[in-house]
Amino acid sequence: MAEPIFQKLALIGIGLIGGSIALAARKHNLAGTIAVSSRTAKTLARAKELGLGGSWHADAKEAVKDADCVILSIPVGASGAVAEEIAASLKPGAIVSDVGSVKKSVVAQMAPHLPKNVHFVPAHPVAGTEFSGPDAALVDLFQKRWTILTPPSGTDPAAVETLAKFWRGLGANVDVMDPAHHDLVLAITSHVPHLIAYNIVGTAAHLEEVTESEVMKFSAGGFRDFTRIASSDPTMWRDIFMHNREAVLEMLGRFSEDLTALQRFIRYGEGDKLFELFTKTRAIRRGIIEAGQETAVPDFGRPHETDKS
Ligand code: NAP
Repeated sequence: MAEPIFQKLALIGIGLIGGSIALAARKHNLAGTIAVSSRTAKTLARAKELGLGGSWHADAKEAVKDADCVILSIPVGASGAVAEEIAASLKPGAIVSDVGSVKKSVVAQMAPHLPKNVHFVPAHPVAGTEFSGPDAALVDLFQKRWTILTPPSGTDPAAVETLAKFWRGLGANVDVMDPAHHDLVLAITSHVPHLIAYNIVGTAAHLEEVTESEVMKFSAGGFRDFTRIASSDPTMWRDIFMHNREAVLEMLGRFSEDLTALQRFIRYGEGDKLFELFTKTRAIRRGIIEAGQETAVPDFGRPHETDKS
């Protein structure tokens, strides 16, 4: 087996993403030791039971001591405070990274606290589930999914390449992007779709003429797939919308215009226009399957009664 990329890796935050990094780093021998810290004793104890690391620290400052790489896997809104807390304990030459779903705000929050002698390479693995906490960690979460690195200009290219190598070792494909561009791309591919899901589930919850039991009973008509997305972690998603405000509002503006156009097609009976759009959108799904980012199994790969035989 190859030599580890980092002698000591420190993971601050050990939920779905931090835990999955720990499992995959151990499986692929990417770190000599893994020091873990979490805000609460409860999460830290659970991560220990699950064997997600090698040493356990209530204090993040202790965890980062002598670490060659430090990765924050915490809600985006907490990145500044944690960067400030660990700054003075970082090893000179260490790579400091995160996994936040928003990048411009994370750079603005963390960079001012970090000493000049560390390499700051923010990252975002575009992989996840609607579950959270250490129990949700999956060893193969990053397999064939993209991780986007957004190093601020002037970052040492060797540090960027080392972190890219680590993520490739975890199974990911790696891309490098400007933080603002990342936020715009993710606004349309992830943030607005989540907002639509939260909204449609909220609208159904407010309907008085349709009972709750009818919503549940007939959910397989499409609603059910939105409820999966709308069950995602409230803290994480509140922070994403609070910290990617500009890009989300820009994309929502475009979305509303297109929705108004659809409304008009329906009102004025322009079925051909609807058909044209639905044909285009079908091709986009085919493209996603061909890019290896989804399976072609019907109904999103859900097992059906007949599959159990
Ligand atoms: P998670 O499972 O809920 O784990 C969150 C971790 O952060 C826990 O260790 C938690 O500690 C800690 N934490 C929570 N609030 C904190 C605070 N105010 N200060 C310091 N630590 C705090 O979350 P996750 O899904 O791994 O998400 C972590 C990050 O990954 C987020 O920035 C998110 O945007 C990003 N991300 C998520 C996904 C996804 O699908 N979930 C995908 C890509 C990127 P305690 O439990 O001890 O409180």
